[in-house]
Order: sequence, then C-alpha cells, then structure tokens
Amino acid sequence: MHTEKGCLFVVATPIGNLEDISLRALNTLKSVDLIVAEDTRHSKKLLAHFNINTPLSAYHDYSKPAVTEKIIRRLTEGNNIALISDAGTPLISDPGYRLVSIAHEQGVRVRPLPGPCALICALCVAGLPSDRFLFTGYLPAKPCARKKEIEQMAESTYTWIFYETPHRIVHSLADLVHTMGPARKITIARELTKHFETVLSGTAEEIYSRVSETPEQQKGEFVVLVAGKEKEKPAVTLQAEQMMKTLMSELSLKQASSVAAKLTGIQKRELYNLGLKLNLQS
Ligand code: SAM
Repeated sequence: MHTEKGCLFVVATPIGNLEDISLRALNTLKSVDLIVAEDTRHSKKLLAHFNINTPLSAYHDYSKPAVTEKIIRRLTEGNNIALISDAGTPLISDPGYRLVSIAHEQGVRVRPLPGPCALICALCVAGLPSDRFLFTGYLPAKPCARKKEIEQMAESTYTWIFYETPHRIVHSLADLVHTMGPARKITIARELTKHFETVLSGTAEEIYSRVSETPEQQKGEFVVLVAGKEKEKPAVTLQAEQMMKTLMSELSLKQASSVAAKLTGIQKRELYNLGLKLNLQS
C-alpha cells in the first residue's frame, strides 16, 4: 500500500514469462487508483491473470492532449497512477515519454518499478561487450533508411542493440552482412523468457545463413546485437610488438625493451610493459 499521493509509477511487466512480474509491481498495480496502458484489451488479460481489478484506461503518446491532461489532473488531485505497456518496460520502444515529461513539468513525482526489458535481457546473455552499448529501437522499415542506419552504426565501437520484427529479420541480417562484413560478430535473441527462447551467436554470415535457411528461426520477437567495430591498432604499436617479439627471443625482457626503445623512440617502460603482456599471451 502506498502512503504517498499523486505519484506516477512506471511499472515494468513480463516480456513473456508471467513469473517475471515483481512483488512490488503486483502490489503497486493493486493499490493505485488507476492503471494506464497502451492497449487495454491486452493488459486486461495480464491483470486478470493476477486478479487485479484496478480501473484501467488507455494512454498512448499520440493520445489526444485532453487524455494526457486528464491523467495529469488526476495525479495533481492526489491519485496514484501506474503506467504499463503491453510488455516490458514502458518508454522503451513503447509509449510513456510524453506523459512522464509532462508529469515532470507539472511537479508530479515519477517513480520507476524496474523489471523485464528485452534489450537488457538480451545483452546479459549475448556474450558481447556489455560495458558500453547503444540501443536504437527498431530499425527503419524502408530498405534505404535501414541500410543508411546500418552504415552509420558500422563505425561504432560500442555494442549495438536494436529490435526487429519477424518479417524483416532476414532482410536486416542480409544488410548487416553486406555493410559490416561477413565476419562481424552478432547475436540474435529470440522469444526471450518464452518456450522457444533461442540465443544464436556467431559471425554475421553464420547467423544470416542459419536464420534464412530455417523458417522457425524467423518467428517471434527479436533483439539483434552487433559487436562494435574493433579498434585498429596504430601501425607503430604493431611494429613495436613485432620488434619486441623478435628481440625477446634472443634477449632478456629488460635488454629487449632497452634496444627497442633506442630503435623506435618509444619509452623503455612502455616497451617493458608491452613485453610483459606479450609474454602472458604466449
Ligand atoms: N518495452 C519493451 C521492452 O522493455 O523491451 C519493448 C517493446 S517493443 C514494442 C517490442 C519489441 O521488443 C519486439 O518487437 C522485440 O523486438 C522486442 N521484444 C519484446 N519481447 C521480447 C522477447 N520476449 N524476446 C525477444 N525480443 C523481445
């Protein structure tokens, strides 16, 4: 039960497996005065499953301003309202941005109730670098715009994540192979938390072949993750590496770094550390 009044709760709901709903989400959905959802018919099923009888009304980012105003008025009058989407976290390729933004303008407190989100679930199991990533929602539907976006992302060194639909997945994978090259590492995460959950990792070419040749792999909901472009080593580093390898086969690490420093002008300490790294790798 919430003691505070006039709060907008942004509540994440499952992306497949209903057991993923949190206790806090259930308690909040039961106790608020109103739930606003992008598709009330869809959300009714979820709420019925958990025996939640809270009044429900529709909200979309393209709802008429009067709809948003009414929700904000109820909040400022002290009603607690929960925002949910069809699945996952509201505002993530889902409605809610306008409502949250206006709530801020009107001094309404907005609180998050974290939970399932397809892009985060996919990132956790993709086996790709997760320290820096970019999420861009759905790829554009038109081939030209889609190719342009892939071209732009080809240079990024961050893991790139996007959502894709079943009827476009093969085309997008083909464009990835074409634009980023067959060897770029990618992962596709399909039907996460559901019966046919599949996570495929490999080169762009391998994944394209697998998906295009297997109709079952084209069904359901997809998250696509693309490894960032590998930073090219500067030529001087490659040259120093080669030199250290050769010298270290004849001399001690200390002597090798001293000779290499004289030949390359790179600091002895830097070359010594490089030698240590090369020793560890061999
Ligand atoms: N708000 C949601 C979230 O938090 O992830 C995303 C909503 S967006 C309208 C729906 C898209 O998310 C799907 O087309 C698919 O790309 C991705 N998605 C949602 N559920 C998924 C799942 N169980 N497995 C894989 N992708 C999923």
